[in-house]
Amino acid sequence: MRIAVVGAGITGIHTCAALLGRGHSVILIDRNPGPAQGASYAPGLLCSDFASHPAFAPESHRGMLRRKPGFFRAEGLMERLKHRKLLSAVGWNPSHPGFAENDSRFGKFFREADRFARAESRARGIEEERTEGSLLLLTREEGASIGERFPDLSFLSPEEALAAAPGLSPSPAFASALRVPRDSSCNGTYAARQLLRQLRNGRRDQFEEIYRSKVEKVETKGGAATGVRLSDGQRIPADGVVLANALGAIPLLRGLGVRLPAIEAEGFTMTFEAEEFSSLPVVTIAFPSLEFTASRVDCRMRATGRLLLGAPGDRARKEEFDRLYDAVLGSFVNLRVKDGTMRFWSGRTAFSPDRFPVSGLVPGITGLAVNLLHGIFGVTLAPICAKITASGFEDPETGTQCLADACSPRRFAS
Ligand SMILES: Cc1cc2nc3c(=O)[nH]c(=O)nc-3n(C[C@H](O)[C@H](O)[C@H](O)COP(=O)(O)OP(=O)(O)OC[C@H]3O[C@@H](n4cnc5c(N)ncnc54)[C@H](O)[C@@H]3O)c2cc1C
Repeated sequence: MRIAVVGAGITGIHTCAALLGRGHSVILIDRNPGPAQGASYAPGLLCSDFASHPAFAPESHRGMLRRKPGFFRAEGLMERLKHRKLLSAVGWNPSHPGFAENDSRFGKFFREADRFARAESRARGIEEERTEGSLLLLTREEGASIGERFPDLSFLSPEEALAAAPGLSPSPAFASALRVPRDSSCNGTYAARQLLRQLRNGRRDQFEEIYRSKVEKVETKGGAATGVRLSDGQRIPADGVVLANALGAIPLLRGLGVRLPAIEAEGFTMTFEAEEFSSLPVVTIAFPSLEFTASRVDCRMRATGRLLLGAPGDRARKEEFDRLYDAVLGSFVNLRVKDGTMRFWSGRTAFSPDRFPVSGLVPGITGLAVNLLHGIFGVTLAPICAKITASGFEDPETGTQCLADACSPRRFAS
């Protein structure tokens, strides 16, 4: 089949790889001038292993987060969540009848996705840029909560943390730290770009890319997808279409009468070079109470801040950048920004109400698939979701059947 994949972020690139691997020919389309310029720009050097460590696995985040009324397919969800910090809003309400079960299912899915992502990278010979581990700086309360849940973990004292991360400022904001050795942070965007280069080199006759072209419409005939129409009026015929264009898919789906319950959030990053390269920490620093994560990405530092739900205005955006700047620069001694290198970035990502991505064929429209709503887990989820999506064009493979069901767009069909 000839399949059009809309969106050249991490999700779209992995989707192309999975489709090409199954012998389809693929045309990748993005409105930006090049790949990975949407949300896939953001996860500079973050999580994979970090997030799959038992103490940081999604289902255990609740112990580290401030408790607020939970949400789970609740009435008035969008209203209640608007402009609230995501991690606080997702307060994990254990008293909700469906929540614990969903939480544990998502944890299992995430760990499976992480294993799969690593195996895929190894099989393709893809190198990931990594830091020398991660250090999670904890308040007394957070340390006690994690210690209760994971009695085997050993914590570092503030002095040991400072020794493990020279350059970190002594701070009353953390009482202990957890060290996740080696391998704990990978640069998913870097890996996705390598994968794209492999596709370009290996499958030239079956792989095409179009940039600076916005898809305006998915064309259908007799209930089947027949291609896409671009903003310049050009029509790209295809036997199948995959929407891997994050929030950009929502209006395209609406045009076909399909609605997805996407919860939007805006994320923030700050990237800069330091005057003294040696003052950049060699480990990823995650500081939940100051709400930032900072990593070394080649010769720069990339810090991410809060996720704000909904669509924050310019003022909220500026406040978050100021806050992030102060929190990061205040947490390290001798860290001075090299003139002209500071870059602030913000962009949207989206979640489904149950946090599972939505990957697979869209019910009611033959040949149309989506691969969306990866939230803040896109690096880890991209390979397995690509496999689920690509296999949907044939029979779901043994082994991904239950995952394919969990991620199916059907669960939101009314
Ligand atoms: C601050 C922040 C930190 C994050 N940290 C992590 C992390 O630590 N670990 C992790 O796993 N994930 C993390 N994520 C999430 C991760 O970045 C996303 O899940 C992932 O990048 C989503 O990739 P994507 O390809 O689905 O979307 P995108 O990268 O947004 O790609 C969508 C593409 O579609 C294109 N597009 C949209 N509409 C159209 C259209 N109509 N026509 C043509 N092209 C279109 C856009 O130009 C874009 O290139 C983070 C996200 C943010 C914002």
